[in-house]
Amino acid sequence: MSTGSDSVAPAGTAEAVGDTGGPDFDVVVAGAGFAGLYLIHRLRGLGLSVRVYETADDVGGTWYWNRYPGARCDIQSIDYSYSFDPDLHSEWTWSEKYATQPEILGYLHHVADKHDLRRDIQFSTRIDRAVWDDAAAQWRIALSTGDEVTCRHYVMATGCLSMPKAPEIEGTERFAGDIYFTSRWPHEGVDLTGKRVGVIGTGSSGIQSIPLMAEQAAQLTVFQRTPNFSIPAHNGPIPEAKLDAVAGRQADYREEARWSRGGVPGEAYEMSALTVSEEERQERFEAAWESGELFEIIGVFNDILGNQQSNDLLSEFLRGKIRSIVDDPATAELLCPTDHPFGTKRPCLDTNYYQTFNLPHVELVDLRTNPIERITETGIDTAEKSFDFDVIVFATGFDAMTGAIVAVDIVGRDGVTLKDKWADGPKTYLGLTSVGFPNLFLVTGPGSPSVLSNMAVSIEQHVDWIADCLDTMRREGYTTIEPTDPAEAGWVQYVNDYGDITLYPRANSWYMGANVPGKPRVFLPFVGGVDRYRAICDEVAERGFVGFALDGPAGSTRSEEVVRRIQPDVELVLEAMEALGLPPIETMSVDEARAFMEASNEMRPPGPEVGEIVDGTLDGADGDLDYRLYRPATAGPHPIVAYFHGGGWVLGSADSDDPFCRDLCVRADAVVVSVNYRHAPEARFPAAADDGLAAVRWIADHAEELGGIPGRLAVCGWSAGGNVAAVTCQLARDAGGPAIVGQVLLNPVVDCDMTRSSYEENADGYILTESLMRWFWDHYADPEDRLDPKASPIRASSLAGLPPALVVTCEFDPLRDEGAAYVDALAAAGVEARHLPNRGHTHTSLMAVDLVLTGEPARVEIARTLRDFLAAATWDAAVPA
Ligand code: NAP
Repeated sequence: MSTGSDSVAPAGTAEAVGDTGGPDFDVVVAGAGFAGLYLIHRLRGLGLSVRVYETADDVGGTWYWNRYPGARCDIQSIDYSYSFDPDLHSEWTWSEKYATQPEILGYLHHVADKHDLRRDIQFSTRIDRAVWDDAAAQWRIALSTGDEVTCRHYVMATGCLSMPKAPEIEGTERFAGDIYFTSRWPHEGVDLTGKRVGVIGTGSSGIQSIPLMAEQAAQLTVFQRTPNFSIPAHNGPIPEAKLDAVAGRQADYREEARWSRGGVPGEAYEMSALTVSEEERQERFEAAWESGELFEIIGVFNDILGNQQSNDLLSEFLRGKIRSIVDDPATAELLCPTDHPFGTKRPCLDTNYYQTFNLPHVELVDLRTNPIERITETGIDTAEKSFDFDVIVFATGFDAMTGAIVAVDIVGRDGVTLKDKWADGPKTYLGLTSVGFPNLFLVTGPGSPSVLSNMAVSIEQHVDWIADCLDTMRREGYTTIEPTDPAEAGWVQYVNDYGDITLYPRANSWYMGANVPGKPRVFLPFVGGVDRYRAICDEVAERGFVGFALDGPAGSTRSEEVVRRIQPDVELVLEAMEALGLPPIETMSVDEARAFMEASNEMRPPGPEVGEIVDGTLDGADGDLDYRLYRPATAGPHPIVAYFHGGGWVLGSADSDDPFCRDLCVRADAVVVSVNYRHAPEARFPAAADDGLAAVRWIADHAEELGGIPGRLAVCGWSAGGNVAAVTCQLARDAGGPAIVGQVLLNPVVDCDMTRSSYEENADGYILTESLMRWFWDHYADPEDRLDPKASPIRASSLAGLPPALVVTCEFDPLRDEGAAYVDALAAAGVEARHLPNRGHTHTSLMAVDLVLTGEPARVEIARTLRDFLAAATWDAAVPA
């Protein structure tokens, strides 16, 4: 091989991983920015040979290229720095809270010099192609110099915002003046003094550079397609508070950053914007605005990126600020973002951005009403006007996160290119690796927190993970590593699930790939947080590379496990509950458990408004029972759903599933009558079952006076209530009525057998535990009674003739398998029975209306099914055989 340069060390300075005879380098890296530099240091430290190829003629990556006026980081300088060498903190003094591009570049030069990193970098060299050679288990890397080298592992450290987007505007080649891209600003700088300047783009680059360009230019015209949210940076010296936070405890401070949400230490504020007073809300908004920190404003309340209403409040506050700064009301309105929730496009930090529009020589052109038609010899023609310029500046952004990766022709196993594999959106495992591309690693790739976090922290985490992985492989005798299909598909799903519970998909942002024409619309980063993500990556490695196949002299291992299957909002609820450290219900007395459940229910979101709520009593099997009736706001009469609440026959009441009953009432457009059947241990088996039958009888007999349509009666129940509903259907069938047109059983108890796999898999950790279920059974029924179909409806001698059924189960529920078994048994008996399994949900999560948003599709389907049952009902069809 030829290195194409004399300035770099010879290849193979250390043993290649696993196979000494093989490749030129253990590791080849594309890019000498923050990531590439640290990779050299870490991999060298392991005794691996590493060669970095860099297109530029020096180190710096993004900070090498983005030299436009005003370019600076918008994470505080101290945080946006390496932690691997603690001495850097004392050696390098940042002059400002937010360092300028020259200062950050200077810092990277210092790091490169101090650790003698340049000797492993070949500058002015692009990697054009990387081809996996399966037989040799190595990558063949084709360089722009015409040389080819081989390596065992190939790392893309090319940055997320490094591939400039094409101008997309006709006529750029015609323009007689100068054209500049903020992302490729000339090193010698540009003197705009006295010039007529047009700037296209109002993202971070535009917003940072426009005030400084306005200081020089004779005339500055800003072409804005989408106004962006920006808050003042309040730049200046490093804040005392930041210095104090690090002083004498740098190691702890860095560790806090690693385990923080965004890669910057700080307390997360765990209140919704909707739960505080107007006064407190405005105070917090004001303080966040004054902080001049992105994470402060994004995290001002815990639901800014999850709840449209909360976001609207902050967005309006920020629009108010813009209106108060910009003198001309029409210009102010144009600068006010209204087409996306705050934060769903990357917000900016600025210095005098909005004030710049008060200057007489600065003009704002709204491209929504007056689009650019072409660039001409002399300037820019819009639909309404021609502008003459000496200089046009493109601040139009990047093909983010994937652009620089697929710009290299990466060819994996069987000749498949990464570009083709990612044609419908990137598919990675952990944002680090991709199936079909063994020994390829991506630093801060799509599917990792990356651009949503402090990049310095996320880069170090990825480099450390990769380095530790290669070290383990070498020690254990593996040559190749590649994720497996199920693991990757599961990760892509998890990343999408997280994105889907946020407001991010509502914006046409580069996070969504929406800024590049033709790019698939996929939410690119992982939004679950740096801390959660780090824990997952650590777990993957600690448990022997979950989701990976490894191969080498040591043999082969293969894991197809999906590392996280749980729905993100369910995970958040479980974590919040765990943090409370509550004692298990089964360790409480019945009274304590009931009080606990009532108190927990108080804290839930209330669910939707319904037309009317009426509390009453009905005839049970042995005396009056309370009920709560939910009536839709639509004109009646309505069909009726008799509803049986959950609570293990011990806990709960007519209103204990209130949010769900409201949701059901609205979505199914039915009267829902929630029945407070008798509870154990006061009334043990078969009290609940007998009450179920008595209640539906009473409801059927009183349908008209309840505002219902006689004959259109379905039953629904959750958990033990699902048990009561299922049993009621059997008892009604056997008794010759009342007619029930359908049954919807949510996570029902249908069998006393606790040996099915779901009991074993989900015995603990998902709220309904095996021991809690045992506690419920013990209170409800003696062991011999549990075999009775009135307790275990799956044990009925015949299931024929029962109403059509929908049985809803959840993946992480001990009761999952018995629910599934009941569907099979019903179908085998000729009953029209459908199963609705819910991936990543727990026993309780579908009930969590307005809390577990990923449960909504199931709630929609439940209501739709009930509507169908009730609509198809005729008295004749509903009368049991
Ligand atoms: P950007 O956020 O994508 O902004 C590009 C701007 O150009 C947008 O206003 C966009 O409008 C507009 N635009 C794009 N194509 C256009 C066209 N054909 N006609 C008219 N307008 C067009 O890009 P950026 O400002 O370079 O920033 C990218 C990211 O880099 C930032 O979000 C940030 O993460 C990072 N960055 C960070 C810093 C920092 O840390 N200080 C500084 C600069 C950049 P639309 O919104 O309508 O697409």
